[in-house]
Amino acid sequence: MKADLHCHTHLSDGQHTPAFVIERARANLVTHLAITDHDVSQALPQAMGYQDLKLINGVEISCLWEAFEIHIVGLFVDPTNTHLQTLLSTQQVRRRERVAQIDAKLTALGTAGLLPNLLAKPAVALTRSHVADFLVANNVCKNRQKAFKTYLNRSGKLFVAAQWCDHTEATRAIKAAGGIPVLAHPGRYAMNKTKLNRLLECFTAAGGEGLEASYPNIAPDMNQYLMRLAVEHGLYLSTGSDFHDAAAHWTDVGKFPTLDRAAAQRGIWHHPTWEQHDNTQPPARLKTL
Ligand code: AMP
Ligand code: MN
Ligand code: MN
Ligand code: MN
Repeated sequence: MKADLHCHTHLSDGQHTPAFVIERARANLVTHLAITDHDVSQALPQAMGYQDLKLINGVEISCLWEAFEIHIVGLFVDPTNTHLQTLLSTQQVRRRERVAQIDAKLTALGTAGLLPNLLAKPAVALTRSHVADFLVANNVCKNRQKAFKTYLNRSGKLFVAAQWCDHTEATRAIKAAGGIPVLAHPGRYAMNKTKLNRLLECFTAAGGEGLEASYPNIAPDMNQYLMRLAVEHGLYLSTGSDFHDAAAHWTDVGKFPTLDRAAAQRGIWHHPTWEQHDNTQPPARLKTL
């Protein structure tokens, strides 16, 4: 089994179509693929009836815990669920409003046309990555990294604070849609261990059930640490590439360190919801959870 449960398409800030990502997953021998675009979820073409690849409907919701922006992935969500779609469309509107505000600031600096340019793209959720690409295309800066550093980060000239939902709302909407809430890339938040522990207490109290324990460039000691946190908080472990772009060589669909034997025992594929949806290989139940 190779489960890539976190990746993006051009419906948010990925560069490729869902069909491209699915074909890449098949080429890379991924057995289970969840497309988890930022604040957008749409049904994957299950009807295509792949024998070698199980497709899982997913989403990655930007939300707030205390003053921190965190990301919660939802796996096995029903994309037609009204509760979930109401939350996602609110987030999408807020994303467009944020781009409009950035557009006003950028126009004042002498470059017009950001919002119409982004609205013409296939993206349903407009992100700062799209803004960064526009800045590069219009010679405002040399590359994406500079665009974030000089313009889009908290101290940047075009920074506009995002208005995300609370983490409890994100978890509730994922569960209302029949999904499993998973805390995305816990090692990437700028918080110390005490804070991360508090976040996990709040996340599990709100209904969170998993955390990502393997993603590209994760340090081996972080791997072990996240495993311990999962045991302490009774969470399943998830894995994913956070793939956005085939031109970015630091990651690819299906590319992340495999969980060791002990960690795989807590794999999210042991979750009862997974068993309900996955008739390809029913796994043994996890005894310790
Ligand atoms: P947003 O959710 O609109 O704030 O956009 C965040 C997205 O921008 C993330 O999902 C990343 O894909 C991308 N991103 C964030 N920080 C950077 C950075 N420093 N360099 C390049 N991409 C970034
Ligand atoms: Mn992204
Ligand atoms: Mn993320
Ligand atoms: Mn992501």
